[in-house]
Amino acid sequence: MAIDHSLLSPAERLLWQYGVRDPSHIDLEAIANYRGAEVVYRRLCGCAARLVAAGEKAVISVDSGSYPGRQRFSLAHELAHWICDKDRGSFRCANEDIGPQNAEAKNVEAYANGYASQLILPSFLVDPWLEGRRINLDTAKALGDDFDASLTASAIKVARRADAQTCVVWAAAGFKDTLLRWSMKQEIANGNEKAIQPGVQG
Ligand SMILES: [Zn+2]
Repeated sequence: MAIDHSLLSPAERLLWQYGVRDPSHIDLEAIANYRGAEVVYRRLCGCAARLVAAGEKAVISVDSGSYPGRQRFSLAHELAHWICDKDRGSFRCANEDIGPQNAEAKNVEAYANGYASQLILPSFLVDPWLEGRRINLDTAKALGDDFDASLTASAIKVARRADAQTCVVWAAAGFKDTLLRWSMKQEIANGNEKAIQPGVQG
């Protein structure tokens, strides 16, 4: 596989460094362990995941009550804190802190989300995977299956990498008489990836 290393994000460079050349190679627990962080799955109250750091060692706890795709993203998010925010100590991350729809704001949680998104769905593997495929939710689901990612994360990734104008909208229970939780604006398809709008709109 020939790639331009100068175009890789920090998370992609990490994966490349560890020999990842295929989605099946992305073993987040192995990377965490290699970097000195033990990963445990347990029921957590009031947070989705947490990182307890002590020197060069850490324990990443992931809420075992959340669904598998969510657990994987939470692990990637805490791994991002461990690798990128070591000077900040330990983290206790709420559900609303963790998620691929909140990856563009300029704060430490958003940075961890962006890093986590690239750990799970690295562009250097996603782009060739997407070649020749239709841009729709079926493709997003297939991407999620192949990369062990949630449908939400996969749909956002497909929309970001698509050449065609694409947007992703998520609503709580359909669009009638309910709340639109967040959407990716069309500007994203026009080259502005900072247009994700988390939060509740009427
Ligand atoms: Zn966090």
